[in-house]
Amino acid sequence: MTRVLLLVPNSTYRAADFMAAAERLGIEIVVGTEQDIDVLATGRSVALPYDDLDSAVGHIEGAASAQPFAAVVAVDDVGVQLAARAARRLGLPHNSPSAVDATRDKSLLRERLVEAGIPSPDFRVVPLDADLDLLAAEIPLPCVVKPLALSGSRGVIRADDREQLLDAFARVRALLETADVVAECGALADRVLIESYIPGIEVSVEGLLADGRLQTLAIFDKPDPLEGPYFEETIYVTPSRLPADQQRAVRSAAERAARALGLSDGPVHIELRINADGIWPIDVAARSIGGLCARALTFGTGSSLEELILRHAIGEPPPSLDREGAASAVMMIPIPAAGVLRTVHGLSEARSIPGVTEVTITMHAGQRVVPLPEGSEYLGFIVARGETAADAESALRRAHAALRFDITPPGEASPDPSATAAALR
Ligand code: ADP
Repeated sequence: MTRVLLLVPNSTYRAADFMAAAERLGIEIVVGTEQDIDVLATGRSVALPYDDLDSAVGHIEGAASAQPFAAVVAVDDVGVQLAARAARRLGLPHNSPSAVDATRDKSLLRERLVEAGIPSPDFRVVPLDADLDLLAAEIPLPCVVKPLALSGSRGVIRADDREQLLDAFARVRALLETADVVAECGALADRVLIESYIPGIEVSVEGLLADGRLQTLAIFDKPDPLEGPYFEETIYVTPSRLPADQQRAVRSAAERAARALGLSDGPVHIELRINADGIWPIDVAARSIGGLCARALTFGTGSSLEELILRHAIGEPPPSLDREGAASAVMMIPIPAAGVLRTVHGLSEARSIPGVTEVTITMHAGQRVVPLPEGSEYLGFIVARGETAADAESALRRAHAALRFDITPPGEASPDPSATAAALR
């Protein structure tokens, strides 16, 4: 049986969908966890020190010597640097570690894109201990302050004037000084990126690279404006409603961005902004779309995105890379307020709306709800299909309107330590 090492960090939404895909394909999965536990009763796991890449590669080599792996696949950003290094050590197809490193350090990403002549914001890296009061006059406004190594728009803040810039810097600095963020960002927690704000509409490209060529699997429009000061993602809809020539330009800009980093193999998720001056890659990730958003994608006669990724990883051509005919859309349910989640009303009504295929609440009763820019979790996801992109989008909006979240304001109640047991269904 073909055996794949799946790198699954503690905080992922994606493990179950990858496991289901592997089962459908008859692939045996070994789960590379951050903890020393057998996370899945049916599968095997190996605990890996994700924060010590050399040692983790050694562990993987040890595990592979007993029974080889056909591929090493990271489900999320957290594992991509390890996957590239482990695959290189094992002689498996992989992205170069240096290419993947540029997707995990936003300043390196900007440098590589600028070197390749790709439209990019002006940027500078500012140490956390800098006196921004002195530097502020040199920073063109509006600008965006962001951590180098977080994801999901965490800590990304737009500033339009000097006062907002100083506030944003202080807020991102406080975030970067929290223990969990220091653990996640490692050496990159001691500085921020400040770059010019690029106006325009935003799309994302979901793709699969093979020998450096990008096969675009979907272009998602983001119909809700993302203008800041925080950048909470909500709705993604595909197929894109952009004119065909603009979609071609988006595909080629995405491929150039991936090449500029040196990415050559496996899934990519690329965010781009479009305005009269061109197409601006904002972020490039060497992994597929996050959260449960991949559930909006079905290929050929019913393959999931995870099936495509696993097949590609083991060198088995997928039967089809064509997305299903119907339009589809996904909403990352926005967080209306900070506090403690008590309950969710309207789930059955939301699920009964025509076109809605899934409403999943991923937070639990009793869990603390933290909005952006500090938060890192979504309330949940809604997925819908429709004849047209507009139909799928409106089904999502109707389902969202049917939901009501009871959130106790902070200070009025403490989170329930047994929160994970109380799933909201
Ligand atoms: P993350 O990896 O945390 O998602 P990004 O760099 O992708 O961080 O930024 C998150 C979102 O913030 C982007 O999708 C975009 O909407 C917005 N954003 C980030 N940088 C800029 C910028 N320079 N100009 C305009 N919008 C930006």
